[in-house]
Amino acid sequence: MNKNLLYRSIPKVDVLLEDKAIQEMIACYSRETVMEAIHTETDKLRKFIAASSDEEEIKHRIELLVPQIDCAVADMHTPNMRMVVNGTGTILHTNLGRAPISDEHMKQVMALVSGYSNLEYNLEAGKRGERYSHFEKLLCKLTGAEAAMAVNNNASSVLLILSSLAKGGEVVVSRGELIEIGGKFRIPDVMEQSGAALVEVGTTNKTHYDDYESAITENTKALLKVHTSNYRIVGFTDSVTIDELIPLAKEHDLPVVEDLGSGVLIDLAKYGLTHEPTVQESIAKGADVVCFSGDKLLGGPQAGIIIGKKKYIDMMKKNQLTRALRIDKFTAATLELVLQEYLSEEKAVKNIPVLRMITEPLAEVEKRARLLARKMRAARLPAQIVVKPCESQIGGGSLPLERIPSMAVMIRPEKISVTELEERMRCLPVPIIPRTANDTIILDARTIKQRDIKLVADQLKEYEVLEKR
Ligand SMILES: *Cc1c(COP(=O)(O)O)cnc(C)c1O
Repeated sequence: MNKNLLYRSIPKVDVLLEDKAIQEMIACYSRETVMEAIHTETDKLRKFIAASSDEEEIKHRIELLVPQIDCAVADMHTPNMRMVVNGTGTILHTNLGRAPISDEHMKQVMALVSGYSNLEYNLEAGKRGERYSHFEKLLCKLTGAEAAMAVNNNASSVLLILSSLAKGGEVVVSRGELIEIGGKFRIPDVMEQSGAALVEVGTTNKTHYDDYESAITENTKALLKVHTSNYRIVGFTDSVTIDELIPLAKEHDLPVVEDLGSGVLIDLAKYGLTHEPTVQESIAKGADVVCFSGDKLLGGPQAGIIIGKKKYIDMMKKNQLTRALRIDKFTAATLELVLQEYLSEEKAVKNIPVLRMITEPLAEVEKRARLLARKMRAARLPAQIVVKPCESQIGGGSLPLERIPSMAVMIRPEKISVTELEERMRCLPVPIIPRTANDTIILDARTIKQRDIKLVADQLKEYEVLEKR
């Protein structure tokens, strides 16, 4: 095999530029990206020739150069972040973007962000306004708090609160509440960044009133309660509730800060779930500052919502860190719309996707599972397809022990392994992310939208995902 000859048979750049297909690519994309693809793809080809001893294959690859360049350019211009179908049954899946926002809300937000808005402009006064003004009153009305604001996420809330109230001082917190919240982020480490020193009291499973009391010194600036979100200690445990901490804090003239993590505004017990202490309850009990995520159980955009006594919220609004942690116009706009739904619980449950998924009756979920199974069977896919009960979970560190009865389409491929099928589903144009268990692919219908059912079935058929290749 004469490799030199093979190298020389790679079309030169000027020849490629004369190629009709390449010219079309330049017209459709840009000269720069097409040139870049030409260089990277010819380089790859040279490396292949150097490494390969299969002359036929080399010739074949040389012939495929132009289509290969086409793919590379198209790839560069295709967003990497895409829609996926969440078949996992985990409603707040942090890796899949946590709370979905409704189409209706997005339509309204689009009108605001694609042009100019009064984000920080007071229309009545004709001068600079506050970006929290759009939802501050609403948050106060819904929670009973005196004042409110929002930052980038709840980790930022914790940072800003401690920096504003306790920088250079001490914050007393129970050892049982110092948690890691996923992605290796640890609440205590975030707290330390604020410049406040954490004084840990109690043990992992038990913290008593006396522990807090004896930890208070003249350097103490606040008492902190952290919701243990994604884990529960069960069995021999004891913790001090917020109602017990309030009098102690009052006595020493200290604020009580509560990081609720998820932050629910409705009583989930009404919908058959465990009662999760609501934001309103924390405020009513006397917490001075409460923070929670915007995109967990609240069902809104990524944000850290901070509410409480005006005196403290004002301190945070004035903190220079606030400028670094401020929310953007997408978030401000979406947050207002989502919060407005809570003016009627009925509307909130209907119009906020997270709440709708959590409260959707099993019979409705089952209808979707059956529809999907029917479509897949009609496509005569080589797999056993059955509809079976399963359990969805909330996720996002909310109600970790809670399971919601649900219905799933269980797929057992006949020609390929479950691992292979799972991988292929991930690589579809609209990736489908399932759960797997006992050698079965599980598609939990609770987290799959009605309008995605056809998409799932069509893709499994069209791309012959279940066939041996
Ligand atoms: C999730 C969580 C956070 C972090 O919230 P993000 O919005 O993800 O930054 C902080 N504290 C608690 C208790 C949490 O559950």
